Amino acid sequence: MERRASPRGPPALDGRDARHSTTRSFTLLLVNAEIIAVGSELLTPHRQDTNSLYLTEKLNELGIEVRFKCIVGDDAQGLTASAKLAMRRSDIIIFTGGLGPTEDDLTRESVAEALGLKLQRDPALIAQLEDRFAKRGIKISPNNFKQADVLTSAAILPNPVGTAPGQWIAGKYDGRDRILVLLPGPPHELKALFEAECVSRLRARIPVQHIATRTLKMAMMPESQVDARAAPIYKTYSDVETTILAGAGEIQLHMRCRKDSKAEAEARVEELTEKIEDELGDAIFSRKGESIEQIVSYLLQMRNMTLAVAESCTGGLLAERITSIGGSSRYFLGGAVVYSNALKTQFANVPKSMINQHGAVSREVAATMAEGIRKRCVSSYGVGITGVAGPSGGTDQKPVGLVYVALAGEEGTQVVERNFLGDRKRIRQFATEQALEMVRRALR
Ligand code: ATP
Ligand code: MG
Repeated sequence: MERRASPRGPPALDGRDARHSTTRSFTLLLVNAEIIAVGSELLTPHRQDTNSLYLTEKLNELGIEVRFKCIVGDDAQGLTASAKLAMRRSDIIIFTGGLGPTEDDLTRESVAEALGLKLQRDPALIAQLEDRFAKRGIKISPNNFKQADVLTSAAILPNPVGTAPGQWIAGKYDGRDRILVLLPGPPHELKALFEAECVSRLRARIPVQHIATRTLKMAMMPESQVDARAAPIYKTYSDVETTILAGAGEIQLHMRCRKDSKAEAEARVEELTEKIEDELGDAIFSRKGESIEQIVSYLLQMRNMTLAVAESCTGGLLAERITSIGGSSRYFLGGAVVYSNALKTQFANVPKSMINQHGAVSREVAATMAEGIRKRCVSSYGVGITGVAGPSGGTDQKPVGLVYVALAGEEGTQVVERNFLGDRKRIRQFATEQALEMVRRALR
């Protein structure tokens, strides 16, 4: 159900007369998109703009690159300014939100103002609104009719799950081809409308492009070190966009390549991936997006081995991460949170004298915790973690961030001493990452 106020060719979106345009068939060479998320709540710490993440994924699948994202409050001037800016710099502009009936829903008016277009109340939409409200036995309040206001030349995108329809405008702006789409804010409405109405329209108007992606993940390696080794390789692939993301003990290398054919894009990104894999070797634990807990899960099951843990400063976080994987009961036996010295002795067989001599945070205690829990649980591997998570409790000899992680197995016990930087949460996260990486390396 697509209706156009203007029956001829691409309209001028800048309010100029479109009848002089010579473009007849209307296939645009559009590739770059901008998403504008509308709503003052998205500028508070309480709400996240998730619509743009969904839209970015869908646009990428179509071979469309998102070059800009913008969040604007419910403010007519701000919205108008963003619309104008977007029309200058982006081929496809997608607004989400601000299409409802209330005073603060200003997207339609602001876009009309920016583009110099008029809003016309659409009789068919009014009838639909009246019908919808009548069916639910609710009296329609006059502000609802705002949702029937349609921009000149816009196609109406029916909303299968809500009241506010979307709007689709394609035409020239300052002589350049542009598509501008208004979509509702509620995520389920946005998704339903985008899939039902926008995907096929976009596909019909853009050159077919394919984006191939790869992600390599590494644990416990400094970002600078990864980049120093990978950059000389990926810099020679100017057609593959490579980005490094770092967080909580993990480094991710993301590669994206856009080509006319899927095979070409895949081949190119694969070639680069293989070269980087050759360089970084074993440090890479995942190339399909798996988490390290998932990889440890595969490896333990493949080897038919089991794991038990004794955790002090991580307070059960390691067990939590391991058991976040479905089916972990096949290889994770369990363990103990041995926070106090007494419980280190009671549950993980750490002699009291050892704690007195070396301190609870020590290489010896970590090793004995790992061995003790392994023995008690009769597991193939045992992990022991002890450290100073902070913010208090640090000393000159044992500063905040000092963590010992031990892994005990048939072949013996290894202990790693680390000095992690960051707050309590980060130190604990790092410590569990270190433990998982040690298990992974032992199982390779
Ligand atoms: P409505 O008719 O519900 O008013 P609308 O198109 O005006 O629809 P908004 O009022 O902007 O949409 O947003 C409605 C709700 O949808 C918000 O309260 C919020 O929960 C959610 N929402 C809006 N924008 C986003 C976004 N970008 N990401 C995630 N959720 C969003
Ligand atoms: Mg609203």
